[in-house]
Amino acid sequence: MRVRDVGEFPLIARLGGIVGRRRVDVVVGIGDDAAALDLGGEELLLLTVDSQVEGVHFVLDRIPPRLLGRRLLAVNASDIAAMGGEPTHALVSLVLPPELELDWLEELYRGLGEEGDRLGAAVVGGNVARSGDGVVLDLTLAGRVPQGELLTRAGARPGDAVLVTGTLGGAAAGLWLREHPEADVPYRDALLTRHLAPTPRVREGRAIAASRLATAMIDLSDGLGSDVLHVCDQSGVGVRVYVENLPLTPGVPHVANLSGRAPWELALYGGEDFELLFTAPPSAADALRERLAALGTAVTPVGEVLPPSEGRWLVLPDGRPVPLEGRGFTHF
Ligand SMILES: [Mg+2]
Repeated sequence: MRVRDVGEFPLIARLGGIVGRRRVDVVVGIGDDAAALDLGGEELLLLTVDSQVEGVHFVLDRIPPRLLGRRLLAVNASDIAAMGGEPTHALVSLVLPPELELDWLEELYRGLGEEGDRLGAAVVGGNVARSGDGVVLDLTLAGRVPQGELLTRAGARPGDAVLVTGTLGGAAAGLWLREHPEADVPYRDALLTRHLAPTPRVREGRAIAASRLATAMIDLSDGLGSDVLHVCDQSGVGVRVYVENLPLTPGVPHVANLSGRAPWELALYGGEDFELLFTAPPSAADALRERLAALGTAVTPVGEVLPPSEGRWLVLPDGRPVPLEGRGFTHF
């Protein structure tokens, strides 16, 4: 059997079964957005790791290295945000072909430094190794969250509202615009930025966690249609998502129109928006909306949590329910 035969998420579960021996300080181990460790004191330590691989995540001459550096830190910070935490320290592992331009690498590090300054995180170490083929950038990020404010993918309860920050579909639309530079659509630059240099919702994640009103949270990296199912799996619940309620990034309907897809398909399955999806009792939704409005970020209810026996559903614009299936990005 090959790695590709197993699939990304079963692979993670399988490997976790091999090394998942528990220490008493492991609050959350393999299978959430980040690990959470109780080392004593009033805060939990959060740890996550993510890579950017040439040919898989980026094409060397199609993303400015400065933006790639920002992105490398941003995608990791999004996972820390999903636990309700803030990022603090980063380690960077570089696997590089010897002929790589030094200017490119220094620009990458300028971007990394800029994003670190913006998020309050410092790069404190790393490693360099020779690559046989292509650039591999790997970043490990530590963060912290106060005890009692940790949010995981587990914890959603039937009757909770499903809420998302910001807007969806913008990253997928930006990716399409990269591939169709001749297309004339409004909000073009904003969509390209959503794709190339996403903004992790760290302040929003902290505000949601500090409110202690939310029950579960995840960041939207693979696409809402896939990521919400992780919350269902970990929480042991069903869900109903209303396609018409998905908040669209400005310009997404134009790109959808040109690319022959429905706007909601980009929002549901496009991935890489790095917004936060969270659940909370309906009675808490207004308070959460106000807290995030103070940060200039919209919160939109997109569905509701169901008892597990009621299943997982997508309600189409014509009101027809169809089974919700994970169709977001997976590596294998
Ligand atoms: Mg994540």
